[in-house]
Amino acid sequence: MSSSPIFGQLERSLADYLTGITYRAQFGDQRTAATVARCELPRLVTALRAVLDEHAPDESGRCNRCRTNRLGRAPAPCRAYLSAHLCLVATDEDSPADAEDTPVPVRRQVALGS
Ligand SMILES: [Zn+2]
Repeated sequence: MSSSPIFGQLERSLADYLTGITYRAQFGDQRTAATVARCELPRLVTALRAVLDEHAPDESGRCNRCRTNRLGRAPAPCRAYLSAHLCLVATDEDSPADAEDTPVPVRRQVALGS
């Protein structure tokens, strides 16, 4: 499956930005890493919040943005919230009970300062 040229450009641009910022945070010198933390990290948080705002769940954890299943219901919890939680907050011991049908997100790599 190929994406449209416009979306492909958008997708590549975003992927390149994320790859670049990750590289600079992990392998840049201390000044570069600090710049990423102070300048780019807040932008990333803003972007993640914007995505999560699009997925505002109701009291049952379902949102109107996630694709509905065969029964016409959105999955609960909202997959955007679940992925963000798994990548950023959850530890290996915190895996949700219904994880068997949940796509496995790419686990974050933690850059350790020296
Ligand atoms: Zn959602």
